[in-house]
Amino acid sequence: MRFLSLFASAALLTASHSAAGEFRVGAAEVDITPPPGTPMAGYYAFRAVGGVLDPIFAKAIVMEQDGVHAALVVLDLSGTTRTIVEAARRAVQAQCGIEGDHVMISATHTHTGPQLARGSLMDDITRANSPEGKIYMQRLPDFVAQAVKEAKMKLAPAQPKVALGRAEGISFNRRVLRDGVAEAVWQPKKIDLAKERPAGPVDPEVGVMVFEAGGQPVAGYLNFAMHPTSVGGGVKISADFPGVFCRLVRERHGPGMVCLFANGCCGNINHGDYFSGRRRTTQELGTRLADAATAVWPLLQPVKPRVPRIRSEQVTLQRRSFSEAQIAKAKDIASRMMTEKLGTVPMAEAVCILETVAKKDVPLLAEVQVISLSDDVAVVALPGEIFVELGLAIKKASPFKHTFIAELANGSIGYVPNREAFPQGNYEVVSARGDIGSGEKLVEVALRLLKEVKDEPGSASR
Ligand SMILES: [Zn+2]
Repeated sequence: MRFLSLFASAALLTASHSAAGEFRVGAAEVDITPPPGTPMAGYYAFRAVGGVLDPIFAKAIVMEQDGVHAALVVLDLSGTTRTIVEAARRAVQAQCGIEGDHVMISATHTHTGPQLARGSLMDDITRANSPEGKIYMQRLPDFVAQAVKEAKMKLAPAQPKVALGRAEGISFNRRVLRDGVAEAVWQPKKIDLAKERPAGPVDPEVGVMVFEAGGQPVAGYLNFAMHPTSVGGGVKISADFPGVFCRLVRERHGPGMVCLFANGCCGNINHGDYFSGRRRTTQELGTRLADAATAVWPLLQPVKPRVPRIRSEQVTLQRRSFSEAQIAKAKDIASRMMTEKLGTVPMAEAVCILETVAKKDVPLLAEVQVISLSDDVAVVALPGEIFVELGLAIKKASPFKHTFIAELANGSIGYVPNREAFPQGNYEVVSARGDIGSGEKLVEVALRLLKEVKDEPGSASR
């Protein structure tokens, strides 16, 4: 009798195992709009939430096959911090049974979201550790776990489809070179084409990955590289253009869909149109991106899913070094920046220098992560504001047909310029934590992990 019941449960296990052999997807979103008084991110100043233009979310897509789970999570926040990511991964592991390093947590980089403490002078400037700020940070990991849990509960057999669209003329390389001047001009309103030119390219690609269950889209993972600064400050919460983009794609293509926006390598990419001198609205930017997705919707190609393959590696980067004179100047600026208006660039530089001095014996760690769901598709996570040249290099050399990149993922080391940008100085360079070559090192690791995942012996023959 005992043998019989053993046999029966073995048969059941086999049956449930073969049913689990399908690729399954679920998606969910949780409102993470902070209450009034919560400190806000962006612009090197203190702002407390005083209203809501549109709500912000923690959104999750969970994939599973043969018991292997992977989760793509995007937060409508200015960035992720390592502390919050580690807490969120622990919460996901405890509440959902998904291994922490199978979870990718990126931020859209909205500049009208709450601020998370980063362990630098920025925390004083933005009052990130105020009682309201602390309450928000304490709740965030559970919000992430809740989104992942709800997504996991909705797991259903799904077909991934991918198309790459293009949005031309809405993103601009915000660093400009002027004849005879070594330093790059930062975010000019209008350029003088006779003597000025963009310092680098843009990435006009709009990545669209859609998961269909029962013939209906249930989740979308949208990818484009551009700073979400179009609301332009103020004290009202907004997801900025990614909110409009996601909302329109859902309205047009699948009302039951959860749409995530992963920001690509937009460290030096913004929407200020210095050719025409005009500034596009949040609505306009989101609509242009949604139009780019809609244009390729009929071209969405099914890709063959398989058991998710995940790689994650902590890379140790070299911190920058500063002279005594630079450190003294940074201290002087820091002593005056709470009471005087000093400008973004000197403040960013002082914050970076003093953080580097304080953490000189702490390794500068950067997690590079790859999640692949098909022999044709992989998502790369990089922990900072990565220059577009580095993202383009990954896409170009990737062994995958479709490579999505999520920046500000799994923590942030701030701006990551490419090697060529360092001598050109200005905002992103003076505030970079990693030394020259850090970006290229991240590219090298990302490409190695992509190759490892691509070459991993498949489970198809099992
Ligand atoms: Zn930024």
